[in-house]
Amino acid sequence: MIRPLSLFIFNLNKQNVKTQVKFASTVLPQFSSEKYGVKRKSFGVLQPRDIDYFKSILGEDRVVTDESDVLPFNIDWIKNCRGQSKVVLKPKTTEEVSKILSYCNGKRLAVCPQGGNTGLVGGSVPVFDEIVLNFNLMNKIISLDEISGALVCESGCVLENLDDYVRERNLIMPLDLGAKGSCHIGGNVSTNAGGLRLLRYGNLHGSVLGLEAVKADGTVLDCLRTLKKDNTGYHLKHLFIGSEGTLGVVTKVAIHCPALPKAVSLGFFGVENFENILNLYKRAKTSLGEILSAFEMADNGSVSSTVKNLKLSNPISDYPFYVLVETHGSDETHDSEKLSRFLSEGMESGVIVDGTVTSEPAKMKTIWNIRESIAGAGLVEGYSFKYDVSIPLRNYYDLVELLRDRLKDHQAKVYGYGHVGDGNIHINVIVPEYTKNMYSMLEPYIFEEVAKLKGSISAEHGVGFRKPQFIHYSKDESALQLMKDLKKSMDPNGILNPYKVLPD
Ligand SMILES: Cc1cc2nc3c(=O)[nH]c(=O)nc-3n(C[C@H](O)[C@H](O)[C@H](O)COP(=O)(O)OP(=O)(O)OC[C@H]3O[C@@H](n4cnc5c(N)ncnc54)[C@H](O)[C@@H]3O)c2cc1C
Repeated sequence: MIRPLSLFIFNLNKQNVKTQVKFASTVLPQFSSEKYGVKRKSFGVLQPRDIDYFKSILGEDRVVTDESDVLPFNIDWIKNCRGQSKVVLKPKTTEEVSKILSYCNGKRLAVCPQGGNTGLVGGSVPVFDEIVLNFNLMNKIISLDEISGALVCESGCVLENLDDYVRERNLIMPLDLGAKGSCHIGGNVSTNAGGLRLLRYGNLHGSVLGLEAVKADGTVLDCLRTLKKDNTGYHLKHLFIGSEGTLGVVTKVAIHCPALPKAVSLGFFGVENFENILNLYKRAKTSLGEILSAFEMADNGSVSSTVKNLKLSNPISDYPFYVLVETHGSDETHDSEKLSRFLSEGMESGVIVDGTVTSEPAKMKTIWNIRESIAGAGLVEGYSFKYDVSIPLRNYYDLVELLRDRLKDHQAKVYGYGHVGDGNIHINVIVPEYTKNMYSMLEPYIFEEVAKLKGSISAEHGVGFRKPQFIHYSKDESALQLMKDLKKSMDPNGILNPYKVLPD
């Protein structure tokens, strides 16, 4: 028997994320295949003898078949997509992954790799009866070179656990995101996750030093080097960074961890209009220069609804826009003085209306908590259509205004927030419930507008199940053909994460 309540606290550790999920609907989402009219491809159908085989390599406990136990693995974080898998496999070693894939490839059984299941484009859950290959139990830290900062670990390690581990050794993870309490490093690599400090520490194509992956036919590919420089042949690791489990399964990751900053300061500013945010960003790059680690924005709706829905407190008053500026440096007095000067100069020139600067960990946590909770706070109000796009900075906020105008006669709230430093804006459209009419008001309209603005339809969340039919707005036919050729060569039977990333 299915128990919808069992979805509530599935695999989520972080308090604010838990709170958001607690408010989410108890109604099971419709099957993705019905909602989006997808036809099952001619893959093999799971037989009792297949289950027996999986049990022979994993044991009884790590082959989950009970319907209600499988259910949470079929539903994505945002409760939009729902698959119909009958089995979840939980390998503990690369060898087990290799045996599973080799077997599935031979039987043409489709597989959906799954990390922390925090993805926002439906890539981490099956569409039909794909076998869920879950990495929760591949969570060992293998080594840390405290001199070079090279961390080697299994792909199922939770990002926050890794960060806690390296922080005790005066290092930090090069990425940080609101889902850090649940997402896996393997999921981060497979989605090329960006996050809050990409501006400072760059993206995963730079910080992943090497990885181990298993191809669809079970071949283990050992590119697990920890060198910063290795120009021998094609740079194969990049094929797995951001390919969302469609080209291979990531089993181990070697990643460069930067030094733990000795001094961290945070500014939270109220701003009158978007033009002033751009003005402030330009100033931050010159005034804060080498210590600038994050430059985030959120509009009034994003912050006020988050604060209200999750009962948080906003340290400054109500303003049309908010900017969060963080510095990572080595001298606390120098850095916080610099940030305080940045605030007072901003206020003198009228670019900042009000603001606060702090280096106190508890206060910084409160402010970051508001920013990190925006993604899910809308779940409290109803259904949240979520978009993650890159737009050249000059037009960064245009899409929010266009959408507000387009939806003015509908019961919809449109919020914009994101990583200004990366040109990446997240747009939440909150409605009382999902309707086909609202869906068709939003898509493909949003992607057409992004293309007109010369942006990307996916800045950091990937393409997943939700966007393959729109990928052409960001990639031309020749690029798409090469992607299809690569897929054919690496996964000729198409068993890895079908219905995702590439259009048919
Ligand atoms: C509150 C919140 C805030 C977020 N903020 C950000 C943000 O700032 N930046 C950002 O980039 N994303 C963000 N996300 C989206 C999400 O957290 C990231 O995409 C994350 O990297 C997904 O990791 P995961 O382990 O949950 O992967 P999953 O959701 O389980 O999977 C994501 C994709 O990767 C594939 N995959 C997972 N593990 C593997 C593996 N080992 N091998 C091969 N393929 C695999 C899956 O098949 C799927 O296609 C946020 C999500 C939430 C809920």
